[in-house]
Amino acid sequence: MDTVAPVRTQSPDVAVRRYVADAARAVRLPDDVAEILETSYREVSVQVPLRRDDGSLLVAHGYRVQHNGARGPYKGGLRYHPHADLDEVRALAALMTWKTALLDLPFGGAKGGIQIDPTTLSARELQSVTRTFALSLSHVLGAYRDIPAPDVNTNAQVMAWFMDAYSSRHGYTPAAVTGKPVELGGAPGREQATGRGLVYIVEAAARRWGWDLTGKRVVIEGFGNVGSWVARELDALGARVVAVSDVRGGVFNDNGLDVGGLVATVAAGGTVPDADVAHTPVTHDELLTLECDILVPAALGGSITADNADDITASLVAEGANHPVTPEADRILADRGVRVIPDILANGGGVTGSYFEWTQNIQQFQWKEERFNTELRERLEDAFHAVAEYAERDGCTYRLAAYAIALDRVARAARTRGYI
Ligand code: GLU
Repeated sequence: MDTVAPVRTQSPDVAVRRYVADAARAVRLPDDVAEILETSYREVSVQVPLRRDDGSLLVAHGYRVQHNGARGPYKGGLRYHPHADLDEVRALAALMTWKTALLDLPFGGAKGGIQIDPTTLSARELQSVTRTFALSLSHVLGAYRDIPAPDVNTNAQVMAWFMDAYSSRHGYTPAAVTGKPVELGGAPGREQATGRGLVYIVEAAARRWGWDLTGKRVVIEGFGNVGSWVARELDALGARVVAVSDVRGGVFNDNGLDVGGLVATVAAGGTVPDADVAHTPVTHDELLTLECDILVPAALGGSITADNADDITASLVAEGANHPVTPEADRILADRGVRVIPDILANGGGVTGSYFEWTQNIQQFQWKEERFNTELRERLEDAFHAVAEYAERDGCTYRLAAYAIALDRVARAARTRGYI
């Protein structure tokens, strides 16, 4: 599971709206089109009652927001977190619309979640809330309607339960959910795809900018699925991962951390600070401002703010998490010449992998992992270079370029389909 620090500093909805408004101005989006893209198509809020193991009843709240479906079925993950409220889910759904458009995937954008702390649930309780949630949303979901996937604190097992509950009502439908276990129609490579994809983009960036990644100092906030795969892949490329953290705290080693040791500890159920690897402990705040070349925020949103943006030493911030940088911090980083590869590009490997899984399920076919990775790299490189070219031509940030490309594609699809 992706366990991350429960930090929350600014409404993500406000942040995403700011980024969209900037891009709408840049592409001169007509006001009526902007208006339709500002709100969600559908927002579903459901009660998720859970009979606890001790016999008591917990009534959790669940959400699914479908932001825009102009380019295809709604697509996006499900997060289980105490802060997963409608405001957050709405912002994350919109991010998915921009992400799928930027990556040129035939999907719209959605997100869902249950406002619950899954670390307090037994395996039976986790399965029970997942099934109840799936059944209460099943009328708005489907392989050609809306396709959930993993996100914060959900994983392949949760997707398997979700798919099973959905299929109990609609017949066996593996394409209705992605990020499933490989034996249930999951795609080999999907689990690694977000972290690995981020590294493919960093490699493409390094080639474009004439950087050598060997020995580059890397700091990663968050050591869940995304952060740990980023660490493994960058370590394998010869970069030096000097600090990582999880919800319990951070570890630092100037000579480079033993990434394999950290991965083994976490895989065995341990936490990053407990790992038996040579390190000095660091706090979450210290970690972000450690001296490094590449900073990968891969925890929750809002970790880089106006309060710490001036102290970031990295020359590249690659956003593994969704909306980890507030608009104020984004401006400060841009003014200081820090390059930021935005979430809708940097972490787009996950949903691109989901797209491969969905197409394979529809065809009842399975690719080998090598093919998955080759196609993943190609798509992400194309998206990266399109953003870089736009940014170089217009002298704007990568974020503005990414949003501008995405906005233009969604607006064109909506207009061509004739619903605006
Ligand atoms: N939760 C991931 C994201 O935010 C993946 C979504 C998906 O695969 O649909 O991009």
